Amino acid sequence: MALHKDEAIVLFKRSYGESDKIIRLFTLTSGKVAAIAKGANKSQKRFANTLEPFNRINVEYFEKYGRGMVRIENADIIKTNSGIETSLKKACTAGFFVEFVDRLTKERERHEDLFNVLAEILEDIRGAEFTYDDILHYQLRMLGILGFMPNFHACVYCGQTMTAEKKIFFSRERGGVLCHKCAPSLPHQVCAEGVIEGIASVQQANDNKMQGSQAACGCAEKGPAYLNNGFEKAAQDIMEGFMTYHLDVEFKSYRILKGLIV
Ligand SMILES: [Zn+2]
Repeated sequence: MALHKDEAIVLFKRSYGESDKIIRLFTLTSGKVAAIAKGANKSQKRFANTLEPFNRINVEYFEKYGRGMVRIENADIIKTNSGIETSLKKACTAGFFVEFVDRLTKERERHEDLFNVLAEILEDIRGAEFTYDDILHYQLRMLGILGFMPNFHACVYCGQTMTAEKKIFFSRERGGVLCHKCAPSLPHQVCAEGVIEGIASVQQANDNKMQGSQAACGCAEKGPAYLNNGFEKAAQDIMEGFMTYHLDVEFKSYRILKGLIV
């Protein structure tokens, strides 16, 4: 049995039998890994609060334990989750992004970019409660990394680029905005003017950040506060419909978070 060393974020934990814990880790180099921590329930000293959800840790594990699980041998903290438990909103926000990663990645699929974004999110949540803009910003970044980015810029049917005020039709099925010519013949929802452009502006700020040109365009780090005009609910509905349809997942944690963010 080879001993592996990796960095990981703890996604979930649960007790297993009298003395063990089962942990789901999101590791830097091997993606999602199911692990057992022998004796973690019995002795407080063994893994003293290291294997708590949202912690970022250094971990050493043996590959084969059975049922596809690894056995955690050692773990030590890089960043604790302290600060996240101080509010229900922070805990729910962290819970949502952890569930996002957990549900949308496969076991042992390496996702270094996603790991870094999740680490950044948890670090940010420690510092401050997220607004809906913050949540949307990271949600779009994660969708982009996973290859599920909706199109808020050009008509998803005919490809025509559209001005901000014309972006009012959204097709959940086709995953993007529709122009006024294509919309009548396709299922769509009608949004108030500014909602789709608001999401697009957060997405654009992400793109600029990726290209390191945010200073040039003058965008704030997480996009202009475009959605602070009562559009959060509408933007949230668009994103939720899109994700439920294309990813076939409903996030349990999001149901609670929804009630806290808007
Ligand atoms: Zn069109």
